Amino acid sequence: MKVSKEFHWEMAHRLPFHPGRCKNLHGHSYKALIQFEGELDKNGMLIDFYDIFKIVDPIIDEMDHSIICHKDDFELIEIAKKINERIVIIDKPTTAENISIYIAERILNAELPQNLSSINVLVYETTDAFAEHSVRIK
Ligand SMILES: [Zn+2]
Repeated sequence: MKVSKEFHWEMAHRLPFHPGRCKNLHGHSYKALIQFEGELDKNGMLIDFYDIFKIVDPIIDEMDHSIICHKDDFELIEIAKKINERIVIIDKPTTAENISIYIAERILNAELPQNLSSINVLVYETTDAFAEHSVRIK
C-alpha cells in the first residue's frame, strides 16, 4: 500500500556549475510528493495523513521563502546572511535531485511507524519536471 501527500513552497537557489541560466539566483514554486509504502495496520491504515503533515511540514516550512545554499557556495551564503535572508544550507548542490535526497534523509530521522518499508520523495522544480528519490526504511 502507498500513501502520498503533497507539499508546496517557494524557494530561491542557484547552481554555480551550470553552463546556462541556472547559475543565476532564481526561484521556483516547488512541489514535493511524499509517498510512504508498507503494510496496513489492524485499522486499515498505513500512516495518518496528519502524522505525515507533522513530520514533513517543519522541513518544508524551513525552506519556504528561503534561499537554499550548497555549503560550499560561500559567496551566496555570505550575501544572504549579510542581508538577513532566510537560508537553508545543504551539503550538496541544490538540484531537484539533491533536494529530494535532503527531504528523504530528514524524514528518515523522524520517528516513523513500524509498518512502513520505504519512502519515495518526488521534488517538482516546475509543473512538468521532477526528481524522484526512494529509500528503504529497514
Ligand atoms: Zn532552478
